[in-house]
Amino acid sequence: MMDLLVNKWIPDHENTEDAGVRMRYGILSGAVGIACNTILFLGKLIAGLLSGSIAIMADAFNNLSDVGSSVVTLIGFKLSGQKADADHPFGHGRIEYVAGLIVSVLIILVGFELARDSFVKILHPETTQFSLVILIILFVSILIKGYMYLYNQSFAKKLSSVALASTAKDSRNDMISTGAVLLSQMIGTMTGLRLDGWCGIAVAAFILVSGISSLKDTANPLLGEEPDPELVDKIEHTVMSYHNILGMHDLIIHDYGPGRRMMSLHAEVPADMTLVEAHALADRIELHLLKEYGISTVIHVDPHEVNDPATRLVQEKVGEFLSELSPDILFHDLRIVTERNHLKVMFDVNVPFGFALSDEEIVDNLKERLQQLDVSCRPLIHVDHYNKT
Ligand SMILES: [Zn+2]
Ligand SMILES: [Zn+2]
Ligand SMILES: [Zn+2]
Repeated sequence: MMDLLVNKWIPDHENTEDAGVRMRYGILSGAVGIACNTILFLGKLIAGLLSGSIAIMADAFNNLSDVGSSVVTLIGFKLSGQKADADHPFGHGRIEYVAGLIVSVLIILVGFELARDSFVKILHPETTQFSLVILIILFVSILIKGYMYLYNQSFAKKLSSVALASTAKDSRNDMISTGAVLLSQMIGTMTGLRLDGWCGIAVAAFILVSGISSLKDTANPLLGEEPDPELVDKIEHTVMSYHNILGMHDLIIHDYGPGRRMMSLHAEVPADMTLVEAHALADRIELHLLKEYGISTVIHVDPHEVNDPATRLVQEKVGEFLSELSPDILFHDLRIVTERNHLKVMFDVNVPFGFALSDEEIVDNLKERLQQLDVSCRPLIHVDHYNKT
């Protein structure tokens, strides 16, 4: 049946690299998933009401939570595709994260509610009614989930899509969960053991775990997470490959949703470069980064003194002092200015998050040592923090 839908709905379905084709696969999987899970939810809801079993009810809501996730994914596909407009110059990609956040919270609430009800059932067990109808409903629902597992798995392979692979994995887990519920009902009926509440707790825990993990997935990009270190490495490599780029620092990547990232970075160029030259170089690198990584970039140019002997000397000394403190402390943007009777030394240091010394201690240490070197020295030190990976 799925092949029929694929043929009908995705005319160019062999062209799996194409963004439009991939989107249609995603929408097809999501839509069929919503239909199947809604049927499963209603079927199990009836079975749960008939039997009075909390475990079957929990399993029903597990399927309802899948409906919620699929709806979010579909909304995400639609809205993320919407072009940026005057009010939202960064596009609408983050809507997917916000919708995902809301659904995750709902799933967690449902999980709590079911865990509480199950706990009550453990304290005050009631006999559940098991019948052939319920057995058939549960058995058919395992088959439906098996079918969902198979088509999502085959789509995931075809598209090498992580999202579809995780949907497939979820279907497989649901088969196990429903299987366990079915088994506990049968054992309970045969032996008279009151397993229902315990089984309900297990399913509720399952729902909670999946809710929390999807909460993490959606909350992190919203809060702004540390960029992928591998990507940072590649970007650094690209920037440093240019002649006249002496160093780079303060790379920041902003994520406005899948495929919409912007970044800024500081690039050090020789101080004797003209503004026109430095600008041309920055423009060339910005274009290169956009083409290679699809990230639009703003490059801030920092002059790096290479010829002035006084600056070179201070650079060397600061480097020495810092390497004595810790090889993890880096510095950049060092400039010196002679003002009347004193020497202004300005630079930034980058300290890893959670470093043993406080910012003040580091600054005081450096100031003291620079002034030992030259009493007229007036250091102006700015401290930044970075994630050591
Ligand atoms: Zn800088
Ligand atoms: Zn420009
Ligand atoms: Zn600067």
